[in-house]
Amino acid sequence: MNWKTEIENLKAYQPGKTIDDVKKMYGLDSIVKLSSNENPYGFSVRVKEYLSKADFTFSIYPDGYAKTLRNSLSEHLGIEEKQIILGNGSDEIIQIISRGLLQKGTNTIMPAPTFPQYKHNAVIEGATVKEVELDDRGKHDLGKMIAEIDDDTSVVWLCSPNNPSGEYIREDELISFLDRVPSHVLTVLDEAYFEYATAEDYYDSVELVEKYPRLLVMRTFSKAYGLAGLRVGYGIANEGIISKLEPLREPFNNNIVAQGAAAAALTDQDFIDRCRTDNRKGMEMFYELCKETGLKYFPSQGNFIVIDFGIDGDEVFQYLLSKGYIVRSGKALGYPSAVRITIGTPEQNRGLIETIRGFLDRT
Ligand SMILES: *Cc1c(COP(=O)(O)O)cnc(C)c1O
Repeated sequence: MNWKTEIENLKAYQPGKTIDDVKKMYGLDSIVKLSSNENPYGFSVRVKEYLSKADFTFSIYPDGYAKTLRNSLSEHLGIEEKQIILGNGSDEIIQIISRGLLQKGTNTIMPAPTFPQYKHNAVIEGATVKEVELDDRGKHDLGKMIAEIDDDTSVVWLCSPNNPSGEYIREDELISFLDRVPSHVLTVLDEAYFEYATAEDYYDSVELVEKYPRLLVMRTFSKAYGLAGLRVGYGIANEGIISKLEPLREPFNNNIVAQGAAAAALTDQDFIDRCRTDNRKGMEMFYELCKETGLKYFPSQGNFIVIDFGIDGDEVFQYLLSKGYIVRSGKALGYPSAVRITIGTPEQNRGLIETIRGFLDRT
């Protein structure tokens, strides 16, 4: 068969261990999964209420324009409906952007390490990938990223707060970057963890979209909104950009349940505020642990933290797994001597921190 040469060495996404896998493997009754940056508090009661009352007609296609959700988002964000593209997760937005702008002969620039889907999709489209190392504090090197732009560059990906480092781009640096990006380049700013950011100088990306016509901001219902299983993400940009991308998406890419649930979730900003506050408290518990034990970490604006143990990250991962805590080894994330931990509930955090102390005492 005539497979695209670009896909020769691609590997299918490797899902992390499931809770059931780990229970069986170690004979444990309870497992705490803090590996995929999911919301430990679940989702808003408004979503539950919506689901219990809704009378779905599954035999009919969903609204391909997702009018209700689009309208809610437009009001919530204070932008036009035509400035929004909805995706089956922001993963699909990444795919749509790549499909529309990347091909052989073009190149695309991204930080490293970052969210792997930018590179994955660029490879499928045959574009050249230019990765620019984060600095040693886990921040984007925007000067270097600008310097990498040439006539063939189509897309620059920024991730802030960045997964996995957790660091965010400072407003002045972002603006100076956007001021310098040439007009043939789309800048994508992935803000999957936007709702968790508490830094005082965190920028208003919606305002930036109004000011910069070639900036696209991506957000998702998968993280703070706690709806990862329903798959809803969105992009916001100038209407001209969105109108080029809209024909590239599948016509019914958000299912009927997801559309309604996401709109219901949006009405409960108190839930988001509580999650943000509690996440910050949990983050402080891990900072405290690191300060007491001398472990290195990146300050994080997300709901996760990378902690460097100075030994093979897999070893830390295995130990924590055997005690019933699933985290992510930094090995596959670009930080081989670290693990990435999703901030959990206070109880989960306390338990994991005790377990980490146990591990440190042992070694
Ligand atoms: C989790 C994550 C996403 C994926 O979000 P979905 O909307 O679930 O597809 C995108 N970007 C980053 C940086 C993420 O961490």
